[in-house]
Amino acid sequence: MFLNPRNKSQDLLFYEALQRRTDLTNGEKSWFKTFQKGFVGECLYDEIFEDVGHDDVLVYRDLYLKFGKSVTQYDALVINDNGIVVNEIKNYTGEYKVEGGDWFRNGQRISEEPVAQLNRSVGKLIGLRNSVNGNFGVSGKLIFVSDDFYLQTDDNSLWSKIVVRMDLRRYLRKFRGGKIGNKSQFIVRLLSENIVENPYIDNNVDEGRLRKGLYCGQCGSFNLIKSRFHLVCGECESKESNETHLLRAMSDYQFLFYGKDMTRISFMSFIGDCLTPRVVYRILLKHCYINKKGNQTTYTFKYRNFDNAMAKPELFVKYKDHLKE
Ligand SMILES: [Zn+2]
Repeated sequence: MFLNPRNKSQDLLFYEALQRRTDLTNGEKSWFKTFQKGFVGECLYDEIFEDVGHDDVLVYRDLYLKFGKSVTQYDALVINDNGIVVNEIKNYTGEYKVEGGDWFRNGQRISEEPVAQLNRSVGKLIGLRNSVNGNFGVSGKLIFVSDDFYLQTDDNSLWSKIVVRMDLRRYLRKFRGGKIGNKSQFIVRLLSENIVENPYIDNNVDEGRLRKGLYCGQCGSFNLIKSRFHLVCGECESKESNETHLLRAMSDYQFLFYGKDMTRISFMSFIGDCLTPRVVYRILLKHCYINKKGNQTTYTFKYRNFDNAMAKPELFVKYKDHLKE
């Protein structure tokens, strides 16, 4: 049973919003690709787990746990009465070689050390277990989800820490028939006491780099033509309501300027003043929490992101969107 949804990371959402409004530098392009690839890999793992079935386990996905002063991220934690299994998901593609503990891709050493990373994550959970004198196992596997991943190594003990795509179904099937009883509940309670938000977000972009305005959700064009309750794309003719456009912009704003207050004025400037303040204000009131500090009012978007907001159909009965294929 999946205990929580798999969401796109803040970093991925940041780059998705950023690339709509500016040309990414080569460095940014590379990070964007890494985050995209990672997320695709995690979704693939979920899909295969879904297919194999996960009724006999409890699974946490993309979790941040705080241990003392440090925070560790987990791609997946698989729990039953035997204990916790960490699944560190890697969407590596290409030919890899491990020599003397170092990892190389096409002959070049990579910056990550997957085994060390896994050991650290497992070690933190062992520490947590010991701190409560818990009586359950903690172990971990590196899961390589791509069928285009090849590994050569001089260290045969490595294979016991690894699951490759070819063996993934078989590996996940082994959790079948496990028990979810009191011990699993204990573990879940213990973990839930330590769950925190991702503390490593420091995304903030120089506003001067960004193209102001609203863009088509279908093709990305900023060439939009106003009708009464909609904006129609001048390129692909998709028609989206003002509300849809503003929700996308509010979502973008919170990912592009993490932790920065959104005021009516800063948001109007962000959207290039392309809708009237009256329309914008109404939508801000509807979809944001309002914070008053002295004589300044700031707005906090109510939803995790644009997709989550759009998944609430009760909000959008009035002015439908029409996206062109
Ligand atoms: Zn368009």
